[in-house]
Amino acid sequence: MLNTYTFPEFDYQRSPDQDAAKPVKHPVVVVGAGPMGLAAAVDFAQHGVPVVVLDDNNTVSVGSRAVCYAKRFLDISDRLGVGQRLVDKGVTWNIGKVFLDDEQIYSFNMLPEEHHRRPGFINLQQYYLEEYYVDRIAELDKADLRWKNKVVNIKEENDAVILTVDTPEGEYQIQADYVVACDGANSRVRAMCGLESKGQIFQDRFLIADVVMDPKKFPPERWFWFNPPFHEGQSTLLHRQADNVWRIDFDLGWDADPEEEKKPENIIPRVKAFLGEDVEFELEWASVYTFTCRRMDEFRHGRIFFAGDAAHQVSPFGARGANSGIEDIDNLVWKIKLVLQGKAPASLLNSYSPERVFAADENILNSTRSTDFITPKSAVSRVFRDAVLKLAKNYNFARPLVNSGRLSVPPFLTESPLNTEDTSVFNCKVVPGAPCTDGPVIRNGQDDFLLSCVGNEFNGLLFVEGRQDLTPSILDELSQLAAQEVPVKTFVIATHEMDVSLPVGVELLVDKVGAVNQRLDAMPRTFYLTRPDQLVTARMRQFDKAAVVAAQNKALGK
Ligand SMILES: Cc1cc2nc3c(=O)[nH]c(=O)nc-3n(C[C@H](O)[C@H](O)[C@H](O)COP(=O)(O)OP(=O)(O)OC[C@H]3O[C@@H](n4cnc5c(N)ncnc54)[C@H](O)[C@@H]3O)c2cc1C
Repeated sequence: MLNTYTFPEFDYQRSPDQDAAKPVKHPVVVVGAGPMGLAAAVDFAQHGVPVVVLDDNNTVSVGSRAVCYAKRFLDISDRLGVGQRLVDKGVTWNIGKVFLDDEQIYSFNMLPEEHHRRPGFINLQQYYLEEYYVDRIAELDKADLRWKNKVVNIKEENDAVILTVDTPEGEYQIQADYVVACDGANSRVRAMCGLESKGQIFQDRFLIADVVMDPKKFPPERWFWFNPPFHEGQSTLLHRQADNVWRIDFDLGWDADPEEEKKPENIIPRVKAFLGEDVEFELEWASVYTFTCRRMDEFRHGRIFFAGDAAHQVSPFGARGANSGIEDIDNLVWKIKLVLQGKAPASLLNSYSPERVFAADENILNSTRSTDFITPKSAVSRVFRDAVLKLAKNYNFARPLVNSGRLSVPPFLTESPLNTEDTSVFNCKVVPGAPCTDGPVIRNGQDDFLLSCVGNEFNGLLFVEGRQDLTPSILDELSQLAAQEVPVKTFVIATHEMDVSLPVGVELLVDKVGAVNQRLDAMPRTFYLTRPDQLVTARMRQFDKAAVVAAQNKALGK
């Protein structure tokens, strides 16, 4: 098989902790340097929180795993300083097409709106994603990434978590105020805590064949076939990745023998039947996978927080694994930081599990429905599925019923205990609990996007029509918000440049094409409060400082 990627081998390095007389205590230890552990490390380090990351391995993800990263993943990666590299290397796509037998029945657009910084999706091999995050960690002096450091024991005692770590030079112990367990689907930390992830294992097998071929063969789109002539009775999914690698997923059914199916002599005829005898390609990777939808009851266990696949798992249809895992990290890190700094009560940490369990349930529901639709488990389900597919070609109403993997969008945390209830009427979907929307802005005379400005701290968005909306008392109140122990830094959003002197902690953004005003249904003095993870936590038709302080206190778990 052809290798287009050279897997890095990271050195094991002895840590001074291994020579300490007693276990050294760190504020945060992250277990696992997969996508989630790496993202957590970057986020903590960017927030100025020293973090140790322990991984049992010394390279990035081997094989073909995650491919599709949604807009929200990219928005978060932008905040973490990796987004541009992902987009530059990845294959951008917004269009998906669905085929039945030998004809296309419809297509859809993952980002029907213009004026967002990021596309609906990019496709990129998981190993590149991890490599870029490892590179980002190297730029940050607060993150200590330790390869070939395997956590073999974990226990909570008094006010600390004690971890026993195995290395090529033997075992040592460290302590942590908090541990983030990102050690994957078979989480050893979870098992060592006596906890389980419960759910459904699907009786089906898919073959992944990654092939290198001419980039002009297919456009950069997601194509899904039900019952194609080249793979009768089954389904097939096609995605283009970086380096002209194409990912083909063939449904094999439960009775297929994974070892036989992985053999090149069995794969190559399948791929040729699909691509045509005359298309040249080389096989880069092949594997057979089964899938599971499950989650832990709670994502917090004392001082240990579970994130990513350790906490919840979905089938790959809908691309919700890494896409939801990074939202866990986005949700957790700012909370731990503020609690460690004594700026928020420890009770703030109680919000992590209910917020992310709510999101996991939505993802598991969507993923289970997709899996049931793609591989019907009963004759009745198959009849329903086939009828929907036939109708979808000519009738729009049937298309929402077709489920070839409802693709990842961030769940809106509408039930969050941190939200302030809406008391005024808005005609837009950016409700408390939703991620803030994006739109082009001008910042200091330069083109930018709203989501590049918002995040890492509490932000206010104050919409103004003109200078008359910025009275001296409002400016004074914005200044007071910015000077709090946990500041609220406000962006004044105007429709045009204004010559106005703003206090420290308040900045002007010009809504370049009006998209931000329109998407947030803004009126003069409308105010949105966002959390450090860019989620809207409160909104009000008229700025009211006392209401902002109350909403921020609620969002801080006070
Ligand atoms: C076929 C397939 C396709 C997929 N496609 C997509 C997709 O398109 N989009 C998407 O969003 N998701 C997709 N996923 C899911 C995605 O790959 C996972 O959700 C993601 O890898 C989870 O990241 P993680 O960091 O939680 O866990 P992992 O990636 O599993 O990383 C866990 C890390 O912990 C380390 N570790 C384990 N035990 C220990 C220990 N005791 N001590 C120290 N370190 C330890 C491991 O070595 C590893 O580095 C796909 C998955 C599969 C299998």
